[in-house]
Amino acid sequence: MFRTIKLKLPYDRTLLETAKQFKEATQIVLDYGFENKTFNKNRLNKGTYRMVRGKIPTLPSALVQTARDTASEALKATKLEKKIKRKSLTIRYDNRTFKFYPNSHTVSLTTVHGRLIYPVAHSPLIDRYRGEYTNAQLVVDERSKRIFIMVQVKIPDKEVMKKKKVKVLGIDRGIKNITVLSNNMYFNSKHLREVKGRYQFLRKKLQHLGTRSAHRKLRKLSGRERRFVRDANHVISKKIVSLPYDAFALEALNPARMKQNGQSKKFRKMLGSWSPAELQKFIEYKAEDVGKIVVYINPKYTSQKCSRCGYIDKDNRYGSVFKCKNCGFELNADLNASRNIEVLGTSEYFRLLSASQSLRFDETPLTSGAGDQ
Ligand SMILES: [Zn+2]
Repeated sequence: MFRTIKLKLPYDRTLLETAKQFKEATQIVLDYGFENKTFNKNRLNKGTYRMVRGKIPTLPSALVQTARDTASEALKATKLEKKIKRKSLTIRYDNRTFKFYPNSHTVSLTTVHGRLIYPVAHSPLIDRYRGEYTNAQLVVDERSKRIFIMVQVKIPDKEVMKKKKVKVLGIDRGIKNITVLSNNMYFNSKHLREVKGRYQFLRKKLQHLGTRSAHRKLRKLSGRERRFVRDANHVISKKIVSLPYDAFALEALNPARMKQNGQSKKFRKMLGSWSPAELQKFIEYKAEDVGKIVVYINPKYTSQKCSRCGYIDKDNRYGSVFKCKNCGFELNADLNASRNIEVLGTSEYFRLLSASQSLRFDETPLTSGAGDQ
């Protein structure tokens, strides 16, 4: 699969000039193609190469070629029906005209002054997406005086998607417990709530004061609080992803529904800005880093269904305790939900697998972990 890394380059005259010349070359080919009713690359090349080299002698021939390809595709896309005026200052780079060095955070680019090396600004995506750097697009924004390069990376397909047997971990996001995992692990929110409580107390005091310095302190406080929550989410997601499972099943968060069912209200009241969406994002990209995946399941009935016998009844749950009306099975309510999530996640995993690979499976999906506590 492909991913794009957007990286900031220095605002450099040579790059700006190269982009301008690339644009000019592209425009010449666009006009020729429109007048001669062709987007065929060979014909465009025959008809324009000399003209472009004559008019723009400093643009390297490899870039003249990619400018022609860019023009050809644009002509094809508009079916030669209207004249195209090129506006954006972009350069298409391929493996002949660019090379990305992730370890030194540099990129080598063909320019009007030959091949040059540029530093790129740091991005966490550099380490997240390692692979084959196939091509790139340089984008110049003259108004804001910024230059970016979008590097396309081909990363290997996840190994986990090739497995026939997988271990799926169900993750339930509760209230008293931030998360409860189907392997009986709990992440308690007690500490989080305590710290939150402290912040709330301080905030109230500062709001009451209402002075300018109190406002400043208030702003600082909310930044610190956000960082605290983010750190907590980092720690939890890191721990979860390091567990010996191939896939992690989560309930699909539906913001509209969460508002209705009141659970999120309770969430917010207790945890303030604690964000389940952020935790989800962290689990997702940390899992990706280690070649694991996250699957999403429909949250309907996960808290009402008995994870032992499958009986569904909203009276099965009394607050934090789950007790099945049918078989009498008793368990922590969040743990029961996480086990249902695991089972649903396993079938979702196999659905995704057959959809992505159209392979046939002779074995039935695994449904482990639904036994007694
Ligand atoms: Zn039951």
